[in-house]
Amino acid sequence: MKLFQDFLSLFLQDKCPLCDRPGVNVVCNDCDRQLHQTKLVNPKRYWRGDLPLFAWGQYDGILKRAIAAMKYNNHPQLGQWLGTQLGLQWRQSFPHLSTLTVVPIPMHPEKQKQRGFNQAELIARQFARVSKLRYSPRILRRTKATQALFELTVPQRQQELQQAFSLDLQGTQKLPKQPILLIDDIYTTGTTAAEAQRTLTKAGLKVYGIGTIATPKKETSRR
Ligand SMILES: [Zn+2]
Repeated sequence: MKLFQDFLSLFLQDKCPLCDRPGVNVVCNDCDRQLHQTKLVNPKRYWRGDLPLFAWGQYDGILKRAIAAMKYNNHPQLGQWLGTQLGLQWRQSFPHLSTLTVVPIPMHPEKQKQRGFNQAELIARQFARVSKLRYSPRILRRTKATQALFELTVPQRQQELQQAFSLDLQGTQKLPKQPILLIDDIYTTGTTAAEAQRTLTKAGLKVYGIGTIATPKKETSRR
């Protein structure tokens, strides 16, 4: 099986998942450049309030396509690429912050089985590597299989996500003393992040903020 996968990867791995151009590492130079154009001018723009948000790019155009390709067309390597970008951006924005524990927003086990991976985990693992922060994937569990949230209003989302998470007490030998930085692929209304934060806070843990690849919030009035 391993040999067969290696054999396949000879042909499959070197194509850009966004434009099918051959001979690339993860994405081709052209898509790389276009993706970088979606970057927020100020990733700390939403870094305030009860749950500060650190975001890499605008959820639109090619970045939206890249996230969809990663999730729905089975391109987990995009998760690594995106996690690297988020990590580099973080290091630039917070060069002296080293005492955080990185925790991905978990996916319901059944959904993860279907997809084969949790994109937030891929992004968070790579992010932690690049930003040199501690990585703890087994702190939160998704205990409720929620329906797709994008069609729901904010109150409906809140209702749907109520008690969607619990602490993973089997996987966690020790709960972290360091504040937690949550990681997810997209931040829209913040309902998911807030529910995860609520679960962690109830257990006495401190949530420092959330880092995401993309947000549809519009960067209109630039500082
Ligand atoms: Zn490309």
